[in-house]
Amino acid sequence: NDVLVQVEHLKKYFPVKGLKGPGVQAVEDISIFINRGETLGLVGESGCGKTTLGRTILQLHEPTAGKIVYDGETIFERQNPWKRDENGIMHPVKVPRAKQAKMLPYRRKMQIIFQDPSASLDPRMTVGEIVGEALDIHKLCASKKDRTDRIKELLGRVGLNTEHANRYPHEFSGGQQQRVGIARALAVNPEFIVCDEPISALDVSIQSQVVNMLEDMQQEMGLTYLFIAHDLSVVRHISHRIGVMYLGTMVELAESFELNRHPLHPYSQTLLSAVPVPDPEVSRRRNRIVLEGDIPSPMNPPSGCRFHTRCPYAMDKCKECVPEFKEYEKGHWVACHLLEK
Ligand code: SF4
Repeated sequence: NDVLVQVEHLKKYFPVKGLKGPGVQAVEDISIFINRGETLGLVGESGCGKTTLGRTILQLHEPTAGKIVYDGETIFERQNPWKRDENGIMHPVKVPRAKQAKMLPYRRKMQIIFQDPSASLDPRMTVGEIVGEALDIHKLCASKKDRTDRIKELLGRVGLNTEHANRYPHEFSGGQQQRVGIARALAVNPEFIVCDEPISALDVSIQSQVVNMLEDMQQEMGLTYLFIAHDLSVVRHISHRIGVMYLGTMVELAESFELNRHPLHPYSQTLLSAVPVPDPEVSRRRNRIVLEGDIPSPMNPPSGCRFHTRCPYAMDKCKECVPEFKEYEKGHWVACHLLEK
């Protein structure tokens, strides 16, 4: 397979004012790759770091440590500036400056579609200006006419009319606003799009329209998606592979069919048991697993396996050792000590 995006040991910590230590450990040591033309779904409870991971890959947040390779080019690399002592306390250490590529050309290739279309569109700009702005930043139009034609073409591509170009975002429904957000992302001919819960703020009746449109665009334009959702039932139909995150870490990653049929990590099993099944017979047979306790704070995450405070199978080892994220079956990666035998 042709890998388009690869991240290695990616970390993103958000420092907290007045507090020593790394702060909020939102993304912890994640290594994944995304193939060209693929949709990688990303699921997990809210606050598990999915959005931060997507934004850190795009470098909308500067990574704390790790490596990001885009289409064979290393665009970010930095050693870990935090070291753990024998008591598990983290201390800052001096590391060489990050190696960073100039991002402007990559900003064109890597785009994002936001969760809340109404908040991500500037209310003072018309829809035409919003789409045109993306074209201007990357100097993609040779003339004014070229620019106008391209805006019309893009609006048509997402199912809006040419007359819509002169209207403001508040004049549109949520679904139409999201179409504008998609047109803005498409304007620059991207290759890779982070779809950050693009349908969760929309009415159920229009969610499938937007998903179908994204799928059609992928076919036509060969796009690669990182598709973030908090709900497995959304991503499992559109993703080629699915990654499951828990409290900043990637706990499992496998082909969509395989993950649905045979989840190996206890947390994925819990998520899957919560997905409604239309067949009442299957639904009766399936044991709904309900997790005890709340999701711990990413500012002070549990030691060892971060899931150990809620895992029904936790062993002593789980409190001390971080399980390695390993490929146990072909293409099926899991981080859990239960599989290490
Ligand atoms: Fe549960 Fe231990 Fe596996 Fe973590 S490593 S998921 S605590 S069994």
